[in-house]
Amino acid sequence: MNDPKSSLGESTPLVPPLYQSSVYTLPDLDALDRIMNAEAPGFIYARDGHPNARQLAAQLATLEGADWAVICGSGMAAISAIVLATVQQGDRIVASNRLYGRTTQLFGAELTRFGVQTTFVDCSDLQSVRTALEQPAKVLFVETMSNPLLRLVDVPALAELARARDCLLIVDNTFATPVLTRPLELGAGVVMESLTKMIGGHGDVTLGLIGGRGELPLQVTAAVSIWGLASNPFDCWLAERGLATLPLRMRAASANAAALADWLGRQPAVARVVYPGRPDHPDHELAKRLLRGGFGNMLCFELKDGRDGVNRFMRLATGIPFSPSLGATMTTLSHPGTTSHRYVSPAERRRQGIGDGLIRLSVGVEELGKIQEEMAKGLT
Ligand SMILES: *Cc1c(COP(=O)(O)O)cnc(C)c1O
Repeated sequence: MNDPKSSLGESTPLVPPLYQSSVYTLPDLDALDRIMNAEAPGFIYARDGHPNARQLAAQLATLEGADWAVICGSGMAAISAIVLATVQQGDRIVASNRLYGRTTQLFGAELTRFGVQTTFVDCSDLQSVRTALEQPAKVLFVETMSNPLLRLVDVPALAELARARDCLLIVDNTFATPVLTRPLELGAGVVMESLTKMIGGHGDVTLGLIGGRGELPLQVTAAVSIWGLASNPFDCWLAERGLATLPLRMRAASANAAALADWLGRQPAVARVVYPGRPDHPDHELAKRLLRGGFGNMLCFELKDGRDGVNRFMRLATGIPFSPSLGATMTTLSHPGTTSHRYVSPAERRRQGIGDGLIRLSVGVEELGKIQEEMAKGLT
């Protein structure tokens, strides 16, 4: 009755099937034992593992140059999983002071409740990191490219500092993607990606990845299962479809972003453009060293008219939706001052260079002329 294998006969679906099942049946206890003892492949309960996550993880492991990879229900679930697997009460974390807002909250507020302290430092300044690591630290956590000003960190240099101190370097590579750089090949111990962004790539999944080299730490799979950080099969199925075009999309979107950065730099309404591919970006040399095949699809530009200019831009350039995320196929905009950095004090925002007129663009894969035409409406 319920036997899809026999009804397929000799045929195999070209596209991997979606196994939208939360649980699996087994013929007898011996089969159960073989799976539980890892003597045979198989699945029992989807929170512990399911075929769509397994297959997506295998593909991403290859792309990242990882020996192991685990899919989690979101990027934050992935960060939580690796932290829960590696850190305990009394431990210390050193983290970049330019992290994704929720990551900063996780380290700065949540983990302190469990007796884990985090020191936030400017990771563009290697001397600050060296000083912070003079006290024992379990984890050094950075992002390849920061939000929104796209500051890069010197991953190989940080990896060396971390290794010398027996500290695990975890790199959130979401803004760069493994197409532009592979942190594990640069010496990081663990790579993390929010698959919700460019890798899923179509604005329709919420997933995360952690991966590394060597043996898969048992604590990671345990953390995912026990703390309930697992993925759902349909999102994994969609992400696998997104992955098939990731290199094409990143190449097209990066080329669009580079051309738009040039074009925006010539617009009278624009005060400045922030893009790592531009020689005036503070990390341009580092970006040339660490990234290949482009400088990414993210860019920022500042309007001379501040908040009023942003409102006018949003009302006129309606083809560039306001959407405080990134990595969809279409070009979208966000306003860091009122979204990601809303609760950062105005003084601190100014110090970081996040003005009221700053717009962040997630550049898509549309034809360049179409994006420019739409943008021009907002810049009048
Ligand atoms: C979005 C994002 C995350 C969190 O990922 P979710 O999938 O939204 O949980 C973490 N880091 C960076 C850099 C991100 O952009």
